[in-house]
Amino acid sequence: MSLAETLDMRPGKGANLILRGATVLDPAAGIEGTHDVVIRDGRIADLAVPGSGEAGGLEVVEAEGLHAFPAFFDPHVHLRVPGREDEEDIETGTRAAAAGGYCGILAMANTEPTVSTAADIEALREGAREQASVPVGFLATVTRGMEGEELTEMADIREAGAFGFSDDGLPIRSARVLRRALQYQRLCGGTIALHEEDPELSGDGVMHEGPVSAALGLAGIPSVSESTMIARDAALARYEDGQIHVQHLSAQESVAAVRVAKAAGARISCEATPHHLCLTDEEVRALDASRFKMNPPLRSEADRQALLEGLRDGTIDCIATDHAPHAEEEKEVPFEQAAMGVTGLETAFAALHTDLVLNEVIDLSLLVERMAGGAEPFGLERPTLAPGSEANVVLCDLSAEWTVGEEGYESRSLNSWCAGRTLTGRVLVTVAGGQVAYRLRSFSLGVAQ
Ligand SMILES: [Zn+2]
Ligand SMILES: [Zn+2]
Repeated sequence: MSLAETLDMRPGKGANLILRGATVLDPAAGIEGTHDVVIRDGRIADLAVPGSGEAGGLEVVEAEGLHAFPAFFDPHVHLRVPGREDEEDIETGTRAAAAGGYCGILAMANTEPTVSTAADIEALREGAREQASVPVGFLATVTRGMEGEELTEMADIREAGAFGFSDDGLPIRSARVLRRALQYQRLCGGTIALHEEDPELSGDGVMHEGPVSAALGLAGIPSVSESTMIARDAALARYEDGQIHVQHLSAQESVAAVRVAKAAGARISCEATPHHLCLTDEEVRALDASRFKMNPPLRSEADRQALLEGLRDGTIDCIATDHAPHAEEEKEVPFEQAAMGVTGLETAFAALHTDLVLNEVIDLSLLVERMAGGAEPFGLERPTLAPGSEANVVLCDLSAEWTVGEEGYESRSLNSWCAGRTLTGRVLVTVAGGQVAYRLRSFSLGVAQ
């Protein structure tokens, strides 16, 4: 089933476009070449020889020199609904996703109140059918109110259409509770996504524990706070034959733990964020360091290199933004008091393209493949440009430079980790769930023929 059929979005007209002479790259489907991408009634009708695509009734986009990829999928977004609509909501969050080239996202459940019942999921799905410009799926919490004790009614919640369960924001402290959740998962399905952190080890740490935290005199969060919990939970998943997804991997020990678990046959997938792939704890030396405060924290260069290696060798399945909007008053305070989290949907591709692809750290096809890799761990169809598929396409200008925040954001919040940076590579058009979800204002499309 396609993303629009599986997830929820605002109903609309199927896209009718032809991207003339685009450089097309869909590594997972083995598609690479210059084509007229013919999109008719919201589906990829054809990848035609340049100049030969049948344009009757279609809007023509002169796409020579531009790149068409499968649109991206983000399995880790905080839409802040219900409760903190001053920071984000379904409409603004999915608009930010569309602007970033995403054709699907999964929203986390650590809202105020938490998403912990079938009725909560139904209400969110209804909201998405009214407001979402890209297909959205919702997760519910593993434990009631994220209190870490009583499980939610997982079977009912699944029946209401949740794609999985996560107490993200907090770890599941009790191994007994997670074990029981994995046993219920056997009956009702739904991937369990885990924020891995041992609260005993993290203590009141505010940044990565290492030479930088020592120099700044700030309490540290050690790498093993994450990796020991991953090892524990992978062992539980193996024992119960459960399926888990590890969120926002940050440390080299964590990459090693996932690698070992995969080799042992655990059903485990994992993600890394653009900020952990691009930045280190050195950023915390900056005056406006609360922009770089997140959980898990930015870690050392050795950790960053291990994440990159994990991305290359497939230990890390996908890139997820952990888009975490915050109100300004939560960020514009001393570092120790600042809220943890940064936005990322609008800048993920451009930041990774600028920092990693243009600097020849990873190649473009790996980035494109991993940006769309977040669907499969949740049992969803990977976006593809293969003819016959639902149109989930992002058209990018890889040479366009833009300054983040200069034209504002689609997100309601401003806490971008790359605010003010000039990035190379810009999303021009996003087709999501078969509909045109975004077009850059200054990029004009052709006229209907
Ligand atoms: Zn988290
Ligand atoms: Zn998160």
